[in-house]
Amino acid sequence: MSSPTPTRPELLQKLRDAVAGGFPVAVADLSKLVRIPSVSWAAFDPKHVADSADAVAALVTGLGVFETVQIARAPIGSDPIGSDPIGSDPIGSDPIGSDTDAPLGQPAVLATRAARNGRPSILLYAHHDVQPPGDDADWDSLPFEPTVRGDRLYGRGAADDKAGVMAHVAAIRAFIETVGDDFDLGLAVFIEGEEEFGSRSFSNFLTAHHSALAADVIVVADSNNWDITTPALTVGLRGNVTFRLTVSTLGHASHSGMYGGAVPDAMLAAIALLATLHHADGSVAVEGLTSHQADTPDYAEQQLRDETGLLAGVSLIGSGSILSRIWSKPAITVTGIDAPTVSNASNTLTPSVSVKISARVAPGQLGTEAFAALETHLRANTPFGAHIDIDDVDTGNGFLVDTSGWAVAEAKTSMTDAWGAEAVEMGVGGSIPFIADLVELFPHAQILVTGVEDPDSRAHSPNESLHLGVFQRAILTEAVLLARLNERR
Ligand SMILES: [Zn+2]
Repeated sequence: MSSPTPTRPELLQKLRDAVAGGFPVAVADLSKLVRIPSVSWAAFDPKHVADSADAVAALVTGLGVFETVQIARAPIGSDPIGSDPIGSDPIGSDPIGSDTDAPLGQPAVLATRAARNGRPSILLYAHHDVQPPGDDADWDSLPFEPTVRGDRLYGRGAADDKAGVMAHVAAIRAFIETVGDDFDLGLAVFIEGEEEFGSRSFSNFLTAHHSALAADVIVVADSNNWDITTPALTVGLRGNVTFRLTVSTLGHASHSGMYGGAVPDAMLAAIALLATLHHADGSVAVEGLTSHQADTPDYAEQQLRDETGLLAGVSLIGSGSILSRIWSKPAITVTGIDAPTVSNASNTLTPSVSVKISARVAPGQLGTEAFAALETHLRANTPFGAHIDIDDVDTGNGFLVDTSGWAVAEAKTSMTDAWGAEAVEMGVGGSIPFIADLVELFPHAQILVTGVEDPDSRAHSPNESLHLGVFQRAILTEAVLLARLNERR
């Protein structure tokens, strides 16, 4: 990889001035978006999401540089995004238009402008829908009443992800102000309307608008920064596998005093089987679940203890650096058990027990592959010849950026220019399922997962907020990236 040329100082200064000059308007426009309660969940009025799409489309149209701007909706496929049943084909099995009665997803905004003169093309993604606000009483100011306190803007969506929407708009404004509107960079903006409700029509939308969305570089502005002074590029996301495991040993319940000690009850078999999933130190003991090797930033054990409320004297589990355990290694959690409750417990040998297993998959391993390893392990380690059934299987793929790509180098250079600090390459222990869909449908695009959030943003929670300094630096980062790619041959 050849390291990218530095940004020309006079170009950087012009961009910096344009971003600073436009910043009050960007905050005002963001505040207008936050006032629209665009909750995409089924129980909420879809009119607000439609209003929000209209407002975003007006902002994008107002930029005056796109060949097309549309508000579009795609049918909700039979396969929910991010939960592809094992063995099915999530893309090919439900062609667009095959079912005219299919319900439509929430409206997205899509704007396009073709590349010219051999320049690359870039697609900017964010989402304009938000999580439900919860109880107003839990907020210090009303969720849809954008309020600045200190250096933060509070409100539902102020960070996740209306700030992502406005970072794109404000960056394009600064870019145009600096280079003019006759630029060669291919530019598309895609603002989704139902990310917080499972991106149900996302895959169909990508298929229906495939050529409009195709780009060399895709920026997904929906993640976190390391802290308010250190930018981050999210380079790894874990995948996930969930399923129900049912362990059965008896045809019917029996009195434990009569037969206990001679026949195994299902609880005994389930406990013994589940205990094989981990080593004594709590690390995962399932052969075939892989780990990813990556350097991780320092993260103090005390911080982990504080953030999770780990009780005094309780040890950590796993091995290696703390963040590698969260970002780069698999994890298996039993998240539910169907068995007699304590209050209903009688002296009975339980014939059958069901448990819900939720596993996190290291980036780089397919969800289906991880499920196969788990199933093989469970079948090989079942005690007493107990019968096991596995159903309700869901898998989602993780995400691993090839950090040697030129777009990563361009993004990191842009971050350093805008923040005056080197970017941290971050992992995320959870999943952003739609990113796996992007990777699948655009295998040749380089995907840059950036964001406007910081560790205090509290996305999805009461008192969600955006740090205004981070917001300005995120806008400048993207403006620098656009300007750099516009000069790239
Ligand atoms: Zn989001």
